[in-house]
Amino acid sequence: MAVKNNWTHVGNGLHKASMLSAIMLATGIFSSPAAHAGAIREVLANEDSILVKFDGAVNKASVFTLAGPNRIALDILGGTTDKGTSLAGGPVSNVRLGQFSFDTARVVFDLATPALVTGGYFSADGRSLKINLRRAVASEFSSAMGRGKINFLPPALFRSKPPKKRYEVTAPIGRASQRGMPKIYGPSDPTLPLVVVDAGHGGHDPGAISPHGGKREKEVTLAIAKSIRDELVKTGRIRVALTRDTDRFLVLQDRFGIARKMKADLFISVHADAAGSEQANGATVYTLSETASDREAQKLAARENKSDIINGVNLGGADANVSSILIDLTQRETMNVSADFAKLLIRESKPNMRLRSNSHRFASFVVLKAPDTPSVLFETGYLTNAKDVAFLSSRAGQRRVGQSVASAIQVHFARKLASR
Ligand code: ZN
Repeated sequence: MAVKNNWTHVGNGLHKASMLSAIMLATGIFSSPAAHAGAIREVLANEDSILVKFDGAVNKASVFTLAGPNRIALDILGGTTDKGTSLAGGPVSNVRLGQFSFDTARVVFDLATPALVTGGYFSADGRSLKINLRRAVASEFSSAMGRGKINFLPPALFRSKPPKKRYEVTAPIGRASQRGMPKIYGPSDPTLPLVVVDAGHGGHDPGAISPHGGKREKEVTLAIAKSIRDELVKTGRIRVALTRDTDRFLVLQDRFGIARKMKADLFISVHADAAGSEQANGATVYTLSETASDREAQKLAARENKSDIINGVNLGGADANVSSILIDLTQRETMNVSADFAKLLIRESKPNMRLRSNSHRFASFVVLKAPDTPSVLFETGYLTNAKDVAFLSSRAGQRRVGQSVASAIQVHFARKLASR
């Protein structure tokens, strides 16, 4: 039987938080923690999951376990605890909640029997967090203790800004619609086509690693994405933005989400593959299809789609929603445009770089699932092949890939203009 709880405070954090608030109000030099925070509205613990609902955007959630007595603690960065209800159930005997620090809300779940967090995700709108639970034996629980925190991130578009550091003066920011969006390079004319280039992987996700010198896919893709950007800027007729221009991790939804939010005319995700055989070489262009063109393409899509799952925790969230996007008419039209662009990209790459036979393939890549943005995934070569990795890691090679992509893009938009 579930027990209804009122909020109870954890430790003396709340007292400190109130003191801080008072200082903040008195000095007026930084905003109150609630200004950019989401309040926890509801916490529900069940047999196999915990659901936390917020009334606004939060920045991040992390979970860890504590023994003696057994507990699961959940910290919500950019969260507050001023209102809401909780319901214990399943292995959770009691729910307690308090403001751990001025920028972090903490929920503690007292456990009647040992239980482990096996994963979880934020909803697509960032307003709820589901954490998966599994009852465990004592030895499993104690070995989980050493694993540290498990982090969950809301989709970037619905993530609150990280809480302000104390004493930081709030500076005016740009237009609200552009907040958090990448910089646009090239001409400032908004009627010119916009291309979003996505450097695959990044941060804690290295992607493929080369057996020849240890080059990591995330570095190669970033260098190539920058080269594509530079070549596009040279044309003077195309605007371009990068999903990332540093070594950082982005979930797949955020990658195409940026392209959609910016109303991009084209989205290109750059990768470099790995194969069992060191002989495999050359580039392949992939476009979206619910049925893969071949088994190899299907396996590659499964590998690339895994980018969101780290240590069994799905960082992408709302996975089911994305993978169940129905191919409606809009998407069909988008897929046709994507396929046309893929053919152009192959044509323009041929003189510049090695391509595989059968170089246009199809599979169900999550990163290509924007229903309204023509998208291709460009596997520029194999990091397992010595010649490919040397080419893709060299400035000259990167420039040739950049030139191939830029000229395909120019022809693509020239055709579009002509057909109007
Ligand atoms: Zn990749």
